[in-house]
Amino acid sequence: MSGNETRLRAINAVTSRSAAPSGSPGAPLSEIWGCDVFNLATMEESLSASAFKAMKAARQTGAPLDSATADVVAAAMKDWAIGKGVKFFSHIFYPLTNITAEKHDGFIVINSDGHAITEFTGSLLIKGEPDGSSFPNGSLRTTNAARGYTSWDPTSPAYVTRTANGATLMIPSVFMSWTGESLDKKIPLLRSNAAMSRAAERVLTLMGETDIDSLNASCGAEQEYFLIDSHFANSRPDLLLTGRTLFGAPSPKGQEFDDHYFGVIPERVQVFMQDFEDQLFRLGIPAKTHHNEVAPGQFELAPYFESANVAADHQQLMMTTMQATAKAHGFVCLLHEKPFAGLNGSGKHVNWSVGNSTQGNLLDPGSTPAENLYFLLFCGAVIRGAHLYGPLLRAVIATASNDHRLGANEAPPAIISIDLGEQLEEVFNDIKRGNSSAFREDDTMDLGIAEILPFDRDPGDRNRTSPFAFTGNRFEFRAVGSSNSVAGPLIAMNTMLADSLDWIADRLESELEAGTSRIKAVASVLKELMEQHSSVIFAGDGYSEEWHREAEARGLRNLPTAADAIPVLMEPDVVSLFERTEVLLPVELESRFEVYAEQYVMSIAVEARTTVEMAKTSIYPAAMSYLSHLAGTIHQAASLDIRLDTSTLASIGAETDAMLAAANALDEAMALDDFGSVEAHMRYCADTIRPLMATVRLHADNLETEVADEYWPLPKYREMLFIK
Ligand code: ADP
Ligand code: MG
Repeated sequence: MSGNETRLRAINAVTSRSAAPSGSPGAPLSEIWGCDVFNLATMEESLSASAFKAMKAARQTGAPLDSATADVVAAAMKDWAIGKGVKFFSHIFYPLTNITAEKHDGFIVINSDGHAITEFTGSLLIKGEPDGSSFPNGSLRTTNAARGYTSWDPTSPAYVTRTANGATLMIPSVFMSWTGESLDKKIPLLRSNAAMSRAAERVLTLMGETDIDSLNASCGAEQEYFLIDSHFANSRPDLLLTGRTLFGAPSPKGQEFDDHYFGVIPERVQVFMQDFEDQLFRLGIPAKTHHNEVAPGQFELAPYFESANVAADHQQLMMTTMQATAKAHGFVCLLHEKPFAGLNGSGKHVNWSVGNSTQGNLLDPGSTPAENLYFLLFCGAVIRGAHLYGPLLRAVIATASNDHRLGANEAPPAIISIDLGEQLEEVFNDIKRGNSSAFREDDTMDLGIAEILPFDRDPGDRNRTSPFAFTGNRFEFRAVGSSNSVAGPLIAMNTMLADSLDWIADRLESELEAGTSRIKAVASVLKELMEQHSSVIFAGDGYSEEWHREAEARGLRNLPTAADAIPVLMEPDVVSLFERTEVLLPVELESRFEVYAEQYVMSIAVEARTTVEMAKTSIYPAAMSYLSHLAGTIHQAASLDIRLDTSTLASIGAETDAMLAAANALDEAMALDDFGSVEAHMRYCADTIRPLMATVRLHADNLETEVADEYWPLPKYREMLFIK
């Protein structure tokens, strides 16, 4: 058997597959849109008027349903679900890992005469009891033996998922400990939204508004991903176990021609997208835009924005649906931030705005002086938040996988700055200098600003190098990784905004009490804000060396690795921020720190072990076989008095030895397990383990370019990316 047999089999399987799986065009959107969702319309049809009213109120406030209403809603939900072939239901929840968790229970109950009947009560709807002990919960483990329960979040609708053989009722839920601490990402998201709403209402009240609906954050997340044929992915242990290639020499052709970005979507991929998006539509997820991305094999899907809590649930569901559907189409969907070295990685731009039904989107400049005043206040609040809590924004996107992407000249750097766009930056600089044309002497606001502000919504000339950018009517947090849950970033943004709006409200209050007019008060508060926080604003090239130097001079922190960023969660100002705003108790924050730190360490350990194993059991033997073949031939030739060039033999020999030595060193380094603290362990992973892995890879990739193709066991970059 030749060394490249697995590889050849994979190539064969991919090239001999039929052009595209046959299917049929899906049903019209109007027929399938939301058809698997137990939404308001379905509830209105099936509930009594009073139960529907109670349900609607709960949806708005998030307050728990009373038990009588819960029973009625559960009965209606059960009937609706049974009509769709459902026999099992599951509370679905979002533990501190970035994954989605579910525990399925049957509707089945055996009555006293042995008959199976279906049952689903209000209490089953409202409360589930998964065994919490297997979910990561950090320090909370000690306080409550990790017992936890789930509880329906009535603000996020229940839905049905299907397989060929049946359907399951899914109930979006929060997950908490028996002592009430959050063990999930949903509870703090709901709390952060409430904190933001409270603070925003204070500001709007001070501005003279009397009719103020509660505010909601909105989120539209652009998801990037790679599709790789499963035959290739399955013959790469690294892709299988770590989601990225730990080895692989660059393909002679990569993304340099920009011939993939916005190119014609390959038919096979379109067939996948159409299938996948039909499933999203059934689930009420508004898939809106899809296109090829920069790297070959890379694509993007952006749904239309929704309220942040629902968008976060939908985002999780989208990721799982995407991966399952890809599998059905013979692909593996890679959500890793950097599956292929040297090619662009994948991010998830989180578009975020806040608003309500009475004042509208408060990050939209709008067209009246009042609207612009609110816009400037809210935008100012974001500037202050990003300045004070930039390191927190960096921390909530810190994972072992996102480290490969941030600062790699393709994604925003690990320094958090804000790009406001030229015109808006000018407006804020004027405010800072105290000579803003926006605020006139006679206490009115210049209407001119209304014309300036709704500027350039053209996405074309946006500064893609900025991690956090104002894009017309929202902020776009671009440093978020493709596998990240959007909940963490949304929690951080809502919370920093809540804090800044409270700060603004305090300042406005004292100005107004002193008899200052509203417009002058706003001008003075924003001036003070800009004097303290404008250093976070940066419109230049975030990739450049100069920026790294300048950012340092401005006092903006550069946190290049997750090992630097995750500990920010334990810094006193961050602990205090979350406690003050009632988003996370110190013990809840600490548990997050511990879980994220552990995840970082574990991901790198899995990568390191996979590196050692692949180097020793796959690449080393391939190189040795080829060496033996070369040496044999050279030796034979010498016996015939023919002197062959031995330089290849020598260089492959040297690379092979070097790789083996590096793999052994990595193996040894991995044996160390005594670290004083988890911080020290993270540092060790970042500073010692990762560089050793890189050394193994360097030699292995050199070997890949020298060892004869017929000996090479692993599918190559050019094959995985270009054979379709
Ligand atoms: P681009 O790639 O140019 O940034 P896309 O159309 O791919 O833009 O994605 C933009 C995302 O921003 C979409 O999900 C869109 O729904 C979302 N979005 C638009 N307006 C808002 C808003 N006011 N608040 C939150 N998200 C928004
Ligand atoms: Mg986009």
